[in-house]
Amino acid sequence: MAYVWSNWSGWVKSWPKTMLEPATEEELAAALRLAEGPVRAAGSGHSFTPLVDSSGTIVTLRHMSGVVDHDATALTARIKAGTTLRDLGPMLFDRGLGLINQGDIDRQALAGAVGTGTHGTGGELGSLSASVEAFRLVTADGDVVIASRAENPDVFDAGRVSFGSLGIMSEITMRCRRAYALEETGGRMAVSDVLTAAEALRDANRHFEFWWFPFADDAIVKFLTETDKEPKPRRRRADGEETRDDKIFRAACEASRYVPFLRGPMQKYLTSSSGRYSSTLTEPGRVRWSHEAFPSDRNVRFNEMEYAIPAERGPDCIREVAAYMRDSGVNFLFPLEYRYVAADDIWLSPFYQRDSVTISVHQYHRQPYAALFAGAEAIFRRYEGRPHWGKLHTLGAAELSKLYPRWDDFQAVRRRLDPGGKLLNAHLKRIFGEA
Ligand SMILES: Cc1cc2nc3c(=O)[nH]c(=O)nc-3n(C[C@H](O)[C@H](O)[C@H](O)COP(=O)(O)OP(=O)(O)OC[C@H]3O[C@@H](n4cnc5c(N)ncnc54)[C@H](O)[C@@H]3O)c2cc1C
Repeated sequence: MAYVWSNWSGWVKSWPKTMLEPATEEELAAALRLAEGPVRAAGSGHSFTPLVDSSGTIVTLRHMSGVVDHDATALTARIKAGTTLRDLGPMLFDRGLGLINQGDIDRQALAGAVGTGTHGTGGELGSLSASVEAFRLVTADGDVVIASRAENPDVFDAGRVSFGSLGIMSEITMRCRRAYALEETGGRMAVSDVLTAAEALRDANRHFEFWWFPFADDAIVKFLTETDKEPKPRRRRADGEETRDDKIFRAACEASRYVPFLRGPMQKYLTSSSGRYSSTLTEPGRVRWSHEAFPSDRNVRFNEMEYAIPAERGPDCIREVAAYMRDSGVNFLFPLEYRYVAADDIWLSPFYQRDSVTISVHQYHRQPYAALFAGAEAIFRRYEGRPHWGKLHTLGAAELSKLYPRWDDFQAVRRRLDPGGKLLNAHLKRIFGEA
């Protein structure tokens, strides 16, 4: 039987010999013992890099979903690693809990999101990986390793961001908070004002981010602030159910693909369709429980590059990237995205010991991205940027080892847990510098 696996954007395709869907940790261990390499775990396939690609075995944990137990005093929950964030939200809420922070979407499997350092925005808030308290890892030999600050601390420090290169996680214990509501406000603001006030806006709001279409003079800001107001339930759209905005945006992407000079006017138009933001506005925002407030639905597909750079250099870096995009002559329509992430202590986290700003460049999935991303990447590298592991970049071991002070310690743990390299595909061999 021929299997085909594809990522969300459709640019990574694999034809593994076997695809396995264990339902228990024992089945997972047996699968790992017998499986033909490279053995790669798949979450929801929302990474843009070929992390999951394999001609051998792809393992998904979609049958390993649910909350195993929770501690209402310590505010932690033990969660099966294949649980999607979308399923997890209501499960935690029913137990009076919520995740501390989340990113743009909630389609990812918990282990997939944790494995690449997936993050939202917030000056005081770390990535999802930074909220991990412990995990259970099944190694390439089928052994189970438990890792936390107290037990196997080197596996804990290496493993929280390790994108399936140490083994396959079966369970993850997440630090949570009591369930909380967020109010969303935002709108259009002059980009010069946003960049001047970026740190003040970060400090005044639990979550602050903005999008900037480089040809526009305004950016679109978004704030989420904690509130005691009564949340309204949100109707979640089914897969592929499009809004009017999705249809307009897709039509704009298609039009600018064929008529590139439209990209400037259309970016200005798309920006102007948001209302102007005023901090003195008394109009209330949308109030929802946190798990319904964080995620958006992304129906217009794209490819993405994202780098984390030192937080204080964020405004200069995004100005430079936007100027490059305007001047390069390369055709694109999507906006830049700008977020804050707090420093952590995870060896391969892009936020290791560094408060960061992340800047993302997107390209519509039907357009080539290489030229656009190459120019942006050269700028990110001058700002000491570290790439998101799940988003496109061209760095190899020589460059990555200089960005991560604990690189060699990570490789030592990886070689100890997977001495035969059964978990390495071509992409991982390149980034780890293995023949
Ligand atoms: C529309 C869209 C929006 C996004 N928004 C954000 C955002 O807001 N913030 C952000 O930081 N990123 C974002 N991303 C990137 C995304 O969160 C990451 O790439 C994430 O890793 C995808 O999770 P996944 O479940 O799809 O995992 P996959 O892409 O399938 O896998 C990711 C990695 O995790 C590993 N893995 C999966 N399961 C396990 C397991 N059980 N044990 C060990 N390793 C495992 C895989 O081997 C792989 O290396 C977005 C991506 C898309 C397409």
